[in-house]
Amino acid sequence: MKFADKPDFSKKMIEVAAVVGRAIDDVEISAYFNRLVEYPLDLVCKAFDRALDNRDNEDIYLATLIPTDGEIRKAISAIFAEEIDLGATIGCEKCKGTGFILGERNDGSTFAERCECLLAIIEVKKKYDPKRKDGRRKL
Ligand SMILES: [Zn+2]
Repeated sequence: MKFADKPDFSKKMIEVAAVVGRAIDDVEISAYFNRLVEYPLDLVCKAFDRALDNRDNEDIYLATLIPTDGEIRKAISAIFAEEIDLGATIGCEKCKGTGFILGERNDGSTFAERCECLLAIIEVKKKYDPKRKDGRRKL
Protein backbone atom coordinates (compact mmCIF):
# COMPACT_ATOMS: atom_id res chain seq x y z
CA MET A 1 0.00 0.00 0.00
CA LYS A 2 1.05 3.53 -0.58
CA PHE A 3 0.41 6.42 1.75
CA ALA A 4 -2.37 7.55 -0.61
CA ASP A 5 -4.19 4.26 0.10
CA LYS A 6 -4.57 5.12 3.76
CA PRO A 7 -8.04 6.73 3.56
CA ASP A 8 -9.40 3.65 1.76
CA PHE A 9 -7.61 1.38 4.20
CA SER A 10 -9.13 3.32 7.12
CA LYS A 11 -12.58 2.96 5.59
CA LYS A 12 -12.09 -0.78 5.30
CA MET A 13 -10.91 -1.08 8.90
CA ILE A 14 -13.87 0.93 10.17
CA GLU A 15 -16.16 -1.37 8.19
CA VAL A 16 -14.45 -4.46 9.65
CA ALA A 17 -14.69 -2.98 13.16
CA ALA A 18 -18.41 -2.36 12.60
CA VAL A 19 -18.91 -5.98 11.51
CA VAL A 20 -17.48 -7.25 14.80
CA GLY A 21 -19.26 -4.53 16.77
CA ARG A 22 -16.22 -2.53 17.84
CA ALA A 23 -14.92 0.98 17.51
CA ILE A 24 -11.45 1.59 16.12
CA ASP A 25 -9.31 4.70 16.42
CA ASP A 26 -6.64 6.25 14.22
CA VAL A 27 -3.81 4.87 16.34
CA GLU A 28 -5.00 1.29 15.80
CA ILE A 29 -5.62 1.90 12.11
CA SER A 30 -2.09 3.28 11.72
CA ALA A 31 -0.65 0.28 13.53
CA TYR A 32 -2.42 -2.11 11.13
CA PHE A 33 -1.45 0.02 8.15
CA ASN A 34 2.23 -0.11 9.10
CA ARG A 35 2.17 -3.85 9.67
CA LEU A 36 0.45 -4.63 6.38
CA VAL A 37 1.96 -1.88 4.27
CA GLU A 38 3.97 -4.26 2.06
CA TYR A 39 0.80 -5.73 0.51
CA PRO A 40 -1.44 -4.14 -2.15
CA LEU A 41 -4.60 -2.49 -0.79
CA ASP A 42 -7.11 -4.66 -2.63
CA LEU A 43 -5.37 -7.79 -1.37
CA VAL A 44 -5.45 -6.53 2.22
CA CYS A 45 -9.17 -5.72 1.92
CA LYS A 46 -9.87 -9.18 0.54
CA ALA A 47 -7.83 -10.70 3.35
CA PHE A 48 -9.90 -8.92 5.99
CA ASP A 49 -13.10 -10.32 4.49
CA ARG A 50 -11.59 -13.77 4.31
CA ALA A 51 -10.27 -13.64 7.87
CA LEU A 52 -13.78 -12.79 9.07
CA ASP A 53 -15.27 -15.57 6.93
CA ASN A 54 -12.75 -18.07 8.27
CA ARG A 55 -13.84 -17.59 11.83
CA ASP A 56 -15.83 -20.10 13.69
CA ASN A 57 -19.16 -18.34 14.13
CA GLU A 58 -19.91 -20.42 17.18
CA ASP A 59 -17.17 -18.64 19.05
CA ILE A 60 -18.92 -15.57 20.47
CA TYR A 61 -15.74 -14.08 21.91
CA LEU A 62 -13.78 -14.35 18.67
CA ALA A 63 -16.69 -12.84 16.77
CA THR A 64 -16.19 -9.55 18.64
CA LEU A 65 -12.51 -9.12 17.75
CA ILE A 66 -11.01 -7.37 14.76
CA PRO A 67 -8.80 -9.88 12.91
CA THR A 68 -5.19 -9.56 14.04
CA ASP A 69 -2.43 -8.80 11.55
CA GLY A 70 -1.42 -12.44 11.99
CA GLU A 71 -4.85 -13.58 10.80
CA ILE A 72 -4.63 -11.16 7.89
CA ARG A 73 -1.24 -12.50 6.85
CA LYS A 74 -2.61 -16.04 6.99
CA ALA A 75 -5.55 -15.00 4.81
CA ILE A 76 -3.15 -13.31 2.38
CA SER A 77 -1.11 -16.52 2.09
CA ALA A 78 -4.31 -18.44 1.36
CA ILE A 79 -5.29 -15.94 -1.34
CA PHE A 80 -1.77 -16.10 -2.84
CA ALA A 81 -1.97 -19.88 -2.91
CA GLU A 82 -5.35 -19.84 -4.65
CA GLU A 83 -4.37 -17.32 -7.24
CA ILE A 84 -1.13 -19.06 -8.01
CA ASP A 85 -2.92 -22.40 -8.08
CA LEU A 86 -4.30 -21.50 -11.46
CA GLY A 87 -0.89 -22.21 -12.91
CA ALA A 88 -0.77 -19.35 -15.37
CA THR A 89 2.11 -17.68 -13.57
CA ILE A 90 4.33 -20.71 -14.13
CA GLY A 91 6.99 -19.88 -16.65
CA CYS A 92 6.62 -16.13 -16.26
CA GLU A 93 10.07 -14.60 -16.59
CA LYS A 94 9.25 -11.41 -14.76
CA CYS A 95 8.17 -12.91 -11.46
CA LYS A 96 9.79 -16.35 -11.86
CA GLY A 97 6.37 -17.93 -11.47
CA THR A 98 5.61 -16.51 -8.03
CA GLY A 99 3.02 -14.04 -9.34
CA PHE A 100 4.61 -11.25 -7.33
CA ILE A 101 7.37 -8.78 -7.91
CA LEU A 102 9.26 -7.14 -5.10
CA GLY A 103 9.71 -3.43 -5.48
CA GLU A 104 11.68 -0.90 -3.53
CA ARG A 105 10.49 2.50 -2.40
CA ASN A 106 12.61 5.63 -2.31
CA ASP A 107 13.13 5.17 1.41
CA GLY A 108 14.59 1.70 0.81
CA SER A 109 11.65 -0.30 2.17
CA THR A 110 10.35 -3.17 0.04
CA PHE A 111 6.85 -4.07 -1.06
CA ALA A 112 5.24 -6.85 -3.09
CA GLU A 113 3.24 -6.10 -6.20
CA ARG A 114 1.18 -8.45 -8.31
CA CYS A 115 2.89 -9.35 -11.55
CA GLU A 116 1.06 -8.73 -14.86
CA CYS A 117 0.61 -12.47 -15.31
CA LEU A 118 -1.27 -12.71 -12.01
CA LEU A 119 -3.34 -9.62 -12.75
CA ALA A 120 -4.39 -11.24 -16.01
CA ILE A 121 -5.60 -14.35 -14.17
CA ILE A 122 -7.58 -12.25 -11.73
CA GLU A 123 -9.30 -10.47 -14.61
CA VAL A 124 -10.20 -13.79 -16.19
CA LYS A 125 -11.50 -15.11 -12.88
CA LYS A 126 -13.67 -12.04 -12.37
CA LYS A 127 -15.11 -12.42 -15.83
CA TYR A 128 -16.10 -16.03 -15.43
CA ASP A 129 -17.08 -16.13 -11.80
CA PRO A 130 -20.24 -14.05 -11.30
CA LYS A 131 -19.96 -14.34 -7.52
CA ARG A 132 -16.85 -12.17 -7.61
CA LYS A 133 -18.25 -9.54 -9.91
CA ASP A 134 -19.04 -6.87 -7.33
CA GLY A 135 -16.08 -7.77 -5.14
CA ARG A 136 -18.18 -7.99 -1.99
CA ARG A 137 -18.77 -10.93 0.20
CA LYS A 138 -22.28 -12.05 0.88
CA LEU A 139 -23.57 -11.47 4.39
ZN1 LIG B 1 4.60 -12.97 -13.63
